[in-house]
Amino acid sequence: MPDTIDFAAELNPQQHAAATFGNGPLLVVAGAGTGKTRALVYRVAHLLGRGVPPHRILLLTFTRRAAQEMLGRVARLAGGSSARVHGGTFHATAHRLLRAYGPAAGLAKDFTILDQGDAEDLMGMSRAALGFGQRKSRFPKKETLHHVYSRHVNTEISVEDILRDDLPQFSDLAIDIKKVFAGYTTRKEERNLVDYDDLLLFWVAMLEGSPELGARIASLYDHVLVDEYQDTNALQARILRAMAATHRNITVVGDDAQSIYAFRGANVRNMLDFPKQFEGTTVVALEHNYRSTQPILDVTNTVISRARQRFTKNLFTQRTGGEAPALVAAKDEHEQTSWVVDRILELHEQGTPLREMAVLFRAGYMSADLEIELTNRKIPFEKWGGLKFLEAAHVKDVLAFLRILENPRDEVSWFRVLLLLPGIGDATARTAIDLLQARRWDPEALAELTPPPRAREAYTQLVQLFAALRDGNVDRAVPTEIAALRRMYDAILRERYDRVEPRLADLDQLEIIAGKFPSRAAFLSELALEPPSATQDLATGSSTDDDALILSTAHSAKGREWDAVFVIWAVDGWFPSSRALRSDEETEEERRLMYVAMTRARHHLAVLYPLNSYGSRWGSEYTIDQLSRFIDVGVRERMRRMAAYPAPAPILAPEALPGTPLDLRALLRGRFGAP
Ligand code: ATP
Ligand code: MG
Repeated sequence: MPDTIDFAAELNPQQHAAATFGNGPLLVVAGAGTGKTRALVYRVAHLLGRGVPPHRILLLTFTRRAAQEMLGRVARLAGGSSARVHGGTFHATAHRLLRAYGPAAGLAKDFTILDQGDAEDLMGMSRAALGFGQRKSRFPKKETLHHVYSRHVNTEISVEDILRDDLPQFSDLAIDIKKVFAGYTTRKEERNLVDYDDLLLFWVAMLEGSPELGARIASLYDHVLVDEYQDTNALQARILRAMAATHRNITVVGDDAQSIYAFRGANVRNMLDFPKQFEGTTVVALEHNYRSTQPILDVTNTVISRARQRFTKNLFTQRTGGEAPALVAAKDEHEQTSWVVDRILELHEQGTPLREMAVLFRAGYMSADLEIELTNRKIPFEKWGGLKFLEAAHVKDVLAFLRILENPRDEVSWFRVLLLLPGIGDATARTAIDLLQARRWDPEALAELTPPPRAREAYTQLVQLFAALRDGNVDRAVPTEIAALRRMYDAILRERYDRVEPRLADLDQLEIIAGKFPSRAAFLSELALEPPSATQDLATGSSTDDDALILSTAHSAKGREWDAVFVIWAVDGWFPSSRALRSDEETEEERRLMYVAMTRARHHLAVLYPLNSYGSRWGSEYTIDQLSRFIDVGVRERMRRMAAYPAPAPILAPEALPGTPLDLRALLRGRFGAP
């Protein structure tokens, strides 16, 4: 029960002020591990205690996992009623609102959500349709086009300015690029598709474009609270302004030193300008770090003290003692892996659960060697970030079938499914899709096309499959649909992919997960919106019962903490990533990312760097690596430097040997008659 919480005892005075703050705009700005998230959780509990109904509270976070965890914490504090607090990401919230209010704003019902990969494919189709695909002169790739598009709509910076600053080699193509964007927009509309950016854009448009509708949506909530506010963008700031326009009960917390999403259009100015946007804002600063030991803070404070711009202050802690963070030079990747695994087992034997330890890296692929070693040694692990389960080709294949059933106008999915059939290439797929479009996307139209001979059998199967699945008399449960389409697809999977068994197991898992959703539409939207990083994420909600080591990208580790943290591949070009070093801004963002990674540690922190790597990524050369530029002299001085495995012990010289001494040189001299 809320009234049994002793706020004053469980929070420091600044946190207490934030948690029990009355009404109006509130900004909590503070460094890593100062208890921002904790203050926010207590604030929700306090609001509930004040009698604010749970469904009138909107708690916005950056991942589903973060939302679940915060609401779980509120529930433990305040009791069951918190279950109905609305929590989630901006995108998931936008989705819920669009399903409810979109039809009133001209959005056709039953739209499907395009994930990033699909959006890029659709951009590619728009580019090809305009004939920019085959041009001799260079034209941006579909991924680049999508990046520019997304940056433009999220930041409100003009396409021309983005090209000039980021892609000057294409700056004379602005007109053509905008034609591709126009085509992309039309395609989305004709095919009833909504991409991630649209979710936010449409939310803003509903709020700002119609006074009645806007007021209606804003009046759903009495309090809006946002964690990690430093990573919001201009659109999200507008959304919040409109959502809080009447009641002005908005609480945001953040740390400018941890802003790591500028590459997606986030703007730390949102947070710094918050008091200007909301007149009368109360600002609370926190400086007491509760997470890390002093030796760890000494190092992380030094890392971030090199940042060019910074507003939050150095932190202090009362967790004295503990050893200095280790800086470990490994001979190569394999040695790095061995050291990390040995150390993890050692800490585990001393009583640290695996779940309290994490290995962090700059990009998902950097943990490959470690994953193999962990598997060999039978150490359970969970991977966050990087390649997601849903990005796996075979899972995308099956989802493409389902998406066609949901929305027969889904061109991207048609393309994917048609290309799966042996003997069908781009040209035939295109012809089939044109035919479908001409026939208002009725899958029956496919029967009119005569496929190339090699494709005939599979093609006929496909036509029959869609006819059967679209038959109104058939059971519509999603697992049944998946089972039906797998009768055709599993054979294709065996032909196309290696490592067949784990892939088939993934699909079994997908069938089970699908059974938990009330409808196909609900299942597909959920998957597109909050891609789970592993099947376990969806199957059980959370798998906190099993003890498993966490492997995570630095981005996905945001907001979390572990007893022991290992940052691997602290090599210049890897972390910072060589791809993010084109400008000072990018370098600064990489520095903040390193800061985020290192500040996750409570008691043990180790930073590792292999001295050599065989990289297929660098050609097949053998390269000599350099330590990350962020671990500079001043940082190193505060760390314990060590080699992963010390050189073998020298053979000690005997003190004295009996007998006549040999003269080795004289042996050779004698041989050639030298003096
Ligand atoms: P980040 O910037 O990484 O998101 P944060 O500022 O949100 O960090 P929290 O995660 O809320 O910090 O808190 C860090 C740790 O300190 C948590 O384990 C939390 O429970 C603990 N903590 C925070 N405030 C207090 C407090 N007043 N008393 C005891 N422990 C606290
Ligand atoms: Mg936090």
